[in-house]
Amino acid sequence: ASEKEAALSAAAVPPSDSPTIFDKIINKEIPSKVVFEDDKVLAFRDIAPQAPTHIIIIPKVKDGLTGLSKAEERHTEILGHLLYTAKLIAKQEGLADGFRIVINDGPSGCQSVYHIHVHLLGGRQMNWPPG
Ligand code: C5P
Repeated sequence: ASEKEAALSAAAVPPSDSPTIFDKIINKEIPSKVVFEDDKVLAFRDIAPQAPTHIIIIPKVKDGLTGLSKAEERHTEILGHLLYTAKLIAKQEGLADGFRIVINDGPSGCQSVYHIHVHLLGGRQMNWPPG
């Protein structure tokens, strides 16, 4: 299967609150290239980068946030912290000309990992509309 087909079939897996591969990354059970970490969030380079800079930013505690569509009032602080972290990393990565933030949600949004995450993409000209 092509990379795109593989992504689409992964995205077709029904949403669940079970542990994901990101828990293993948080627990350092599988290696990742960490670019930023604090007590609440972890950011690491995407293993299948779609741009010269492609970083995934996640909360260390999922707290039911499988995706943005599951957000509750109690999540507003961590949601803000994820976006603010994206801005700090964009600066750290030298993306002075701009960058893109993506949050895929659910099957139609092509989400494949059900632990909320922000994609930070940059280092090339982005296009609109996205695929
Ligand atoms: O938004 P979506 O759920 O599709 O994004 C998941 C992202 O996590 C993908 O870009 C994928 O390449 C990345 N990933 C990763 N390391 C893993 C598993 C997935 O960087 N071990």
